[in-house]
Amino acid sequence: NAPISQTDPQIAALLNAELERQQEGLEMIASENFVPRAVLQAQGSVLTNKYAEGYPERRYYGGCEVVDQVEKLAQDRVKALYHAPYANVQPHSGAQANAAVYQALIKPGDTVLGLALDHGGHLTHGMRINFSGRFYHAESYGVNPETYRIDPDIIRQRALETHPQLIIGGWSAYPRVEDFKAMKEIADEVGAKFWVDMAHFAGLVAAGLHPSPVPYADVVSSTAHKTLGGPRSGFILAQEEYGKKINSAVFPGQQGGPLMHIIAGKAVAFALAGTDAFKDRMQRTLDGAKILAERLNAHDVTANGITLLTGGTDVHLVMVDLRHSELDGKQGENLLAQCGITINRNTVPFDPRPASVASGLRIGTAALATRGFAEEQYREVADIIGIALAQGTAADTDALRARVTKLTEDFPLYPGLDQVD
Ligand code: PLP
Repeated sequence: NAPISQTDPQIAALLNAELERQQEGLEMIASENFVPRAVLQAQGSVLTNKYAEGYPERRYYGGCEVVDQVEKLAQDRVKALYHAPYANVQPHSGAQANAAVYQALIKPGDTVLGLALDHGGHLTHGMRINFSGRFYHAESYGVNPETYRIDPDIIRQRALETHPQLIIGGWSAYPRVEDFKAMKEIADEVGAKFWVDMAHFAGLVAAGLHPSPVPYADVVSSTAHKTLGGPRSGFILAQEEYGKKINSAVFPGQQGGPLMHIIAGKAVAFALAGTDAFKDRMQRTLDGAKILAERLNAHDVTANGITLLTGGTDVHLVMVDLRHSELDGKQGENLLAQCGITINRNTVPFDPRPASVASGLRIGTAALATRGFAEEQYREVADIIGIALAQGTAADTDALRARVTKLTEDFPLYPGLDQVD
């Protein structure tokens, strides 16, 4: 039982280095967040030792009386949080949750219709070399070429052309809300099932600050670790009639034993997501993204041909459009990294650059809200990013980095959390 610093000093040093990296920079990758200490504790617990294939009270292993209670709490909490009739909390990740959704709802070779990857969709929504594009006939819809918004008229037209068995809502890189009711009506019209992958905006939905897909979709999948701020993992909600099929698609369809320590972490996160403190955090997340959009629009970035997709945001991220700028996505990502801000480059719709370079920057505000940021700090962050983008490679990154350091010192991350010993 020696501590990790003795058992494996190399890994211990890397754990400490990563803690420092997270503490000393500004995390603005839209899909990332900081879990509360309680979730770290659940994830680092003895529950990792337990095999529990099956579901509560229907296990294929003995000794599950304690973990049964953990899983039931997670199920009950997430159902209450989203007013969902059914929940499965076992998916190890968002991608595995999605694989189970396909398996439960359609057959290999059936047609699916999702948002195109380069318009903000996810790999698992039909990308060619992902399982979703290899085992299913994947068709896509794009955003409206004038408004850059997801447009029910376009989805309907594509659905009438392609006759999908499954229509997919949800996205990975898109700054607005979708019309779930209209999408469900289209699915009904063409005889398709309707599935929403709410991985990105799950926290906003939980806080009541984003429309919920639950009343409209046949099935909703999600990750727990983006805006929702739980452990890296997935879960599935559904109308009652799909419960049996989803259970068997997750286990034994896609997975073996559930990760009970992660399920405990999910249970903690679902409970926290029902609190006023969480709602306040989600409100600050949204306010931060709006401030970022407004101030980037006000900065000189437009002089360099830099704009925002759709002009602004309704969610926890903005999409910076660099198609008409000399600065490309890779350079923009590196430039902000030099200032101590972590973001990711992303393709934008109709991107002329290859995906490895890309013409977009996806910048999210959820992790900074968890760190405690409110309007004043988001204004400062927006100005740092605005100056960096407006000045491009000529920007004084040392001076901007010093401003970032001031923010990180004013809002320490994991105060009191010791380095591992
Ligand atoms: N679904 C969406 C919409 C996502 O953005 C992501 C992650 O980026 C996933 C699913 C996959 O989640 P995971 O990385 O946990 O497999």
